[in-house]
Amino acid sequence: MNHYFRRSHLLSLHRILNDPAASDNDKYVATELLKNAEVSAEGILPSCQDTGTATVFAKRGYNIITNQTDEKDISLGVYNAYANNNLRYSQVAPQTMFNEKNTKTNLPAQIDLLAAPGANYKMLYIVKGGGSANKTQLFQKTKAVLNENAFAEFIQTELMKLGTAACPPYHLAVAVGGLSAEANLKTVKLASCKYYDTLPESGSMGGRAFRDRAMEEKILYMARNMGIGAQFGGKYFLHDVRVVRLPRHGASCPVGIGVSCSADRQMKVKINKDGVFYERLEYNPKSLYKLDATAIAEAAIMEDPVNEVDPKLMVKAKTSGEPEKMKNVEINLDLPMDEIRKVLTNYPVKTRVALTGTMIVARDIAHARLYGRIQKSGDLPDYFKNHPVYYAGPAKTPAGYPSGSFGPTTSGRMDPYVAEFQAAGGSMVMIGKGNRSAVVTEACEKYGGFYLGSPGGMAATLSANCIKSVEVLDMEELGMEAVWKIRVENFPAFIIVDDKGNDFFKEFSTDDATVPPEVNSSIYSVLEFFETVDKNHDQMLEPSELVDGFTNLSLQDATQLVLKYDLGGFGGLNLDEFLTMVMKEEEIVLYVGDETAKQKLLAAD
Ligand code: SF4
Repeated sequence: MNHYFRRSHLLSLHRILNDPAASDNDKYVATELLKNAEVSAEGILPSCQDTGTATVFAKRGYNIITNQTDEKDISLGVYNAYANNNLRYSQVAPQTMFNEKNTKTNLPAQIDLLAAPGANYKMLYIVKGGGSANKTQLFQKTKAVLNENAFAEFIQTELMKLGTAACPPYHLAVAVGGLSAEANLKTVKLASCKYYDTLPESGSMGGRAFRDRAMEEKILYMARNMGIGAQFGGKYFLHDVRVVRLPRHGASCPVGIGVSCSADRQMKVKINKDGVFYERLEYNPKSLYKLDATAIAEAAIMEDPVNEVDPKLMVKAKTSGEPEKMKNVEINLDLPMDEIRKVLTNYPVKTRVALTGTMIVARDIAHARLYGRIQKSGDLPDYFKNHPVYYAGPAKTPAGYPSGSFGPTTSGRMDPYVAEFQAAGGSMVMIGKGNRSAVVTEACEKYGGFYLGSPGGMAATLSANCIKSVEVLDMEELGMEAVWKIRVENFPAFIIVDDKGNDFFKEFSTDDATVPPEVNSSIYSVLEFFETVDKNHDQMLEPSELVDGFTNLSLQDATQLVLKYDLGGFGGLNLDEFLTMVMKEEEIVLYVGDETAKQKLLAAD
């Protein structure tokens, strides 16, 4: 499932290519997502670097007898899938309230097991990425939202807030009502997988759930006209919409909204006395280019009744191979940084670029450490000033490949560093995913910087076609969070923020343009930093580990710090004590060789 898509999902992308009303950028994103599907269908690189949480929604017939270890057996299947393929382990298990460890199996899976009449064992498998899951929202509304105008206004606002960080075009699901908040959100999830497509289309006195197709059309029309498009402006923010209306308690009105992202990964399975039956996913995405425009349009209209484009107007689909190559501005990243900026300044936001040359890859912890270096020396390493920075972290590397799937991560987490880094000559060209906050736009205007958005959802093609070499450059001990140097060719991106104070996403900005406080919080960096310093993984920082983890910290000073903060008398600092130390003296976050901070810390009561 991490390699193949449903045919209907791929046809939705083809429909964009054939729609004269789709923007050039819509078509570009659709083209790249289709290429990505072709690469992932080779079965080596997963379609996205976030290979997700495995979710299984199962109904076991009353007449089916098993050995009563169903959850265990399903979990074993999930384990085998992640252990035997180039998939990323994303699940972390809490050890204490604030300390977590990666389970390194991608277990546990979310398994819902229900009973049903008959002798079939039916399952829906879902692979859900974190970014996509984070877009699920519950609103505890009241009856006041249940009228045309109020509902339209509410949906319009929330659609804008969805933003592009979860890699549109989205399959949107909305559930209105529900006997509980949990029932509502479960409906959202299953509806986004098209699980409830055959619901009736009207309500009943018995309180049956139904699909409101008229509302689906209204919401789709709304989204088509918002202008966000498939990530960089246009018509295709959404592929399609499902609206499910549910009964509710008169005093409650939960409304749930969720999406399935460009990594739209689901599959139905049925087991009965005749065998095991899998939903047929599309193993040969290239074959869809053989379909003509009318066939695609017909398939699309079944999916999307609001396809207001006349199929006769559609450009004839290609009969084979890739769609027509679209124009990019080619940017040579091996030029000096000032020269790169001189080229970029000639183009407006929303311009599509193809990047070739060297990039530095750095994300959360590396940024925190570089920030510490600035505090200490007022300067950044040359590599950070001479090259653009790409916010990313790769999945497992398959044998013979330069890297695993290597898509961009959400850039907003790096926003707090941008102004100081640019003042020191770094982060002058940044590449990542999603929108930035106003501080980034202001810094780029002040210091002459740029932010380029790389399309999300196409990690496999980036790795297979664009990333030519990967080497660790700095902070190797951070593993995947290390600073990497990579060479890219024709790496796709768009100018999102320029050096004149323009921000492409500003025209769609809502609260979403502001980085949420928890994203800015340094607590995650601190937790991850603790893990990297704790070399023997005993959840305790001994003086020798502190010496290795911090620049210029002597064994004597480390011992003194441990004596001061080892409140439980463990002979080292456990996570709680480490956090106490961090919170007591914020400088520890920045204390990577900063003498003043060290003295202050040692002197603290
Ligand atoms: S396509 Fe985007 S939102 Fe979906 S799983 Fe991948 S990174 Fe996350």
